[in-house]
Amino acid sequence: MDTGTCQGCGASGGPLMKFSLGKDFFGRPYDRLSPSSDQSPKWYCTACSMHKNLQRDFRDIRTEYDKLSAGQGSELAKGDEFLRASVRLREIITILEAGQGQSPLLEGPDVRLLMERLNTATMPV
Ligand SMILES: [Zn+2]
Repeated sequence: MDTGTCQGCGASGGPLMKFSLGKDFFGRPYDRLSPSSDQSPKWYCTACSMHKNLQRDFRDIRTEYDKLSAGQGSELAKGDEFLRASVRLREIITILEAGQGQSPLLEGPDVRLLMERLNTATMPV
């Protein structure tokens, strides 16, 4: 189903890459988590497929953060995953700030807010 346009920014004419989510940031296969939304591969231009990866990691971390703050079982309750997640958020922000303009898929302020929350959360032991 190559439509010829990027499903992130709508650009056409350039090379498009097939993007399938596969596994999430915490190494869990996606089809068990979100059967409806993320199973079908989509087509993205080079820049958007990179941002799509960032968006996936951001969403995964945010979901787990929400569970953690709600007192539910969360991947972030493991100290090493917690550290890995905060390092990854910092990376995402660095990449967003290095790129020119906004990412079509990810809002910089959202990522920054999540990182601040993570930084003030109690580090699990
Ligand atoms: Zn694009």
